[in-house]
Amino acid sequence: MNETLLALYQLQHIDTQLDELVSSRGELPVRVEEMRAALVERENILAEIERFAHEHQAKVRALDTDVTDHREKLEKYKKQQFDVKTTREYDAITFQIEDADRRLNEGTETMARLSMELENAQADADAARNDVAQLKEEFDASKKQLDEVMLETAAEEKKLTKLRNDAAKKVTPQFISIYERIRPAKNGLGIVAVRDGVCGGCFNAIPRQLVLELNRGEKHTVCEYCGRIVVGEPIAVAVDGERVKIVYEVDAEEAE
Ligand SMILES: [Zn+2]
Repeated sequence: MNETLLALYQLQHIDTQLDELVSSRGELPVRVEEMRAALVERENILAEIERFAHEHQAKVRALDTDVTDHREKLEKYKKQQFDVKTTREYDAITFQIEDADRRLNEGTETMARLSMELENAQADADAARNDVAQLKEEFDASKKQLDEVMLETAAEEKKLTKLRNDAAKKVTPQFISIYERIRPAKNGLGIVAVRDGVCGGCFNAIPRQLVLELNRGEKHTVCEYCGRIVVGEPIAVAVDGERVKIVYEVDAEEAE
């Protein structure tokens, strides 16, 4: 029997078990990743709003100082207006009063606008903070659930991965690369055995003479219908004879 074909068939056998193990974890791993992404996105939005609010707060504080300053100046000028002696002085102080008044009005208006924006931003930040807290809670719960599921299957996965690595070492890199190219496109099956004269992958007939040759266990063919590597039945029997049922937890001991 061809050792490389046998090892490749073993590899397929192990990969099928690994696939089943991964699918036994269901949608949870994908969902947890989606939740993680949603959480990060919301956290970034929150950080952005907080940064905006922080900047606005600084602006409002600076404006508040300006406005106080303008108000004080305005009062000072108004007092000075009573003490002026000449028309020229009167005109000059009037100009300063008008200028301070205009600046005070502008500052007050801008401050009102920024304060409102700040208030909105703070409300947005509160809402985002609630969202983040809720998403975090949901994420943590699902992550915990996933960790438990992963823990249950981790030992099995480790065992299968080691078997896989051992089997892969016995297969030539070219075969591995062909196998790995076919497998994802063909429902996880890159190599199959001929069974009752048909391809074990697509169930199309294989020529009788070819089946006889394959069944000597020394050569392989590529199914002309599905493109999978096809080997003879003895190779499948050799591997299936050692078949370890997919089992978890305590059953793993019995099956070994
Ligand atoms: Zn086929």
